[in-house]
Amino acid sequence: VVTAAAKPPRATPFLFPQLCKGCGRCIAACPKHCIEEGTEINPASGLVPVIVHEEDCNGCGLCFDACPEPYGLQPRTRALERFDPATADPYAVFGPAAAPTPAEPVLDRKRPLPLGGPMILKGTQASALGAVLAGCRHFFGYPITPSTEGAELMAALLPRLGGVFVQAVSEVATVNMMYGCGGSGMRSMTFTSSPGFSLMLEGISYMVGAEVPGVFVNVMRGGPGLGNIGPEQADIKLACRGLGHGNTHAIVLAPADPQEMLDLTILAFELAFRYRNPVVLLADGYLGQVTGRVRLPEHLIEPGVPAWAVTGDAGHRRNLICSTLLDEADLEAHNVQLNEKYARMMAREQRAEVYCGEDAEWLLVACNTPARMARGAVAALRDAGHRVGLYRPLTLWPFPVATLAPLLARARGLVMVEAGPGQLEEELRLALSLAGLVPPPIHAVRHYGGVLPQHQEIVDRVAGIVEAARG
Ligand code: SF4
Ligand code: SF4
Repeated sequence: VVTAAAKPPRATPFLFPQLCKGCGRCIAACPKHCIEEGTEINPASGLVPVIVHEEDCNGCGLCFDACPEPYGLQPRTRALERFDPATADPYAVFGPAAAPTPAEPVLDRKRPLPLGGPMILKGTQASALGAVLAGCRHFFGYPITPSTEGAELMAALLPRLGGVFVQAVSEVATVNMMYGCGGSGMRSMTFTSSPGFSLMLEGISYMVGAEVPGVFVNVMRGGPGLGNIGPEQADIKLACRGLGHGNTHAIVLAPADPQEMLDLTILAFELAFRYRNPVVLLADGYLGQVTGRVRLPEHLIEPGVPAWAVTGDAGHRRNLICSTLLDEADLEAHNVQLNEKYARMMAREQRAEVYCGEDAEWLLVACNTPARMARGAVAALRDAGHRVGLYRPLTLWPFPVATLAPLLARARGLVMVEAGPGQLEEELRLALSLAGLVPPPIHAVRHYGGVLPQHQEIVDRVAGIVEAARG
């Protein structure tokens, strides 16, 4: 009679509770449901360790492999049995933990997207679709008109894509959820409108300080205060000069139609992760609501995992996401490094469109929806024999002064077309001043409170300026 040798029993888990951060990976890994969330704070760590029930454990070892802590869960041995896990010093037991190997970045991958016909979408919906194609699977937000349709589409799409949609209790909660999500290297966004954007500024400053990416779509409405839900461009100053306290800047993109809402949202995610910084997409209330033909790109993005992210595994354990630097010298060095990053953005990310600029003696300057009115006015004015062109910044910060400078040599005057109190003009004047350039006379067609400049009034105003200059 041959009897099989009895297999030695497999090791059950031995937990050092002071080294358990309660991440729950072992709970998810255990096929026998032997591990549950803890309920008591461990006084040594200030965290809540899990509770292991060994009765049903088959010693499969999956929980050891899942635990990112070097000495969190260990296979139980006779030597370990000598220690009381509640009081023993694990480092005295095992020796010092080896420094974790730094994580390698997992690169983004492009996946081909089947070609399809154009879609008819609102600007906010096009932006939401762009975010999904850019790999965003986390949305946090608080509804506010006229931005809500974008959030609504994300609420419909993300759960089907394995993503997360959270309607936060406020804009303050929203931005701090984005801070946490971005810190773990994942793509998150929000849709908001002017008063909501104001509430997010403190958190945006933290994200800039901690170098955390995230995309903020601000569909600007009439202000100040609650104002109205009409299209205004009065948050340009806020986005370009006032992103919370401290030395903050973010790239600010200014789309003008639903197609650009999609394209520039995709670009916004790319830039946010390239520079580890928030990016603002500044739309207006009309652009958020108006429908237009939108073509999808040829690729979608399957996001990777940046090496700097905090994900809870061993390779990323040394990473720290934090905007607190209490030592003055450390904080100065951090600001110097931020300034170098801002300088790289200013050198590389200026974007603008020039329409009929080759012989233009009079340049209209506009962005967002007013740029569409200005473009139509340029066509009409050229039909009437006037040498007029349009200069349209696509980035409001950094202001694309490099594209404007060559046009100024021939320009006899600029005409700002704005649905706001002249904040685009202020950005232009500042950019020219910093570049050491003196502008020609600057005129303006300007409205407030949700009133858009109209085609005919732009044509009449520019024609009047040209005629007056001819004397
Ligand atoms: S060894 Fe296997 S069965 Fe036992 S607690 Fe760990 S995962 Fe669960
Ligand atoms: S995986 Fe490790 S650190 Fe996370 S809860 Fe389990 S024992 Fe604790």
